[in-house]
Amino acid sequence: MSRRAIQERKAEHKRIAAERMEHLLELAEEIFGRRPELADRYVQLAWRLATRYNVRFPPHLKRKFCRRCKSFWVPSVTCRVRTCPHPPRVIITCLRCGKITRLPYKQKRARASGNNVN
Ligand SMILES: [Zn+2]
Repeated sequence: MSRRAIQERKAEHKRIAAERMEHLLELAEEIFGRRPELADRYVQLAWRLATRYNVRFPPHLKRKFCRRCKSFWVPSVTCRVRTCPHPPRVIITCLRCGKITRLPYKQKRARASGNNVN
């Protein structure tokens, strides 16, 4: 197998892994109300895919589970979500293991667009 073919196959594996990670977290969201332990299991599986294929979690999936204990996050049920303006960030506290995750966000600049609605 040529080097190029190997690279292409690897990229394909990564793409499939990313798809499955996304799907697993969707399933976790669906099942959480009925079987929360299964939601955590789906997070574990998604994490395993990420590490096995060296795929990063896209930003919208990063706030869905705890990186330390791999529990699925549902605001006010399994995690606490707070915002802090200086510096702008969302602070998520895992209610199972106590891990604190700080995710920075960009503030909308009022003058940037020129036609400010608010
Ligand atoms: Zn945790």
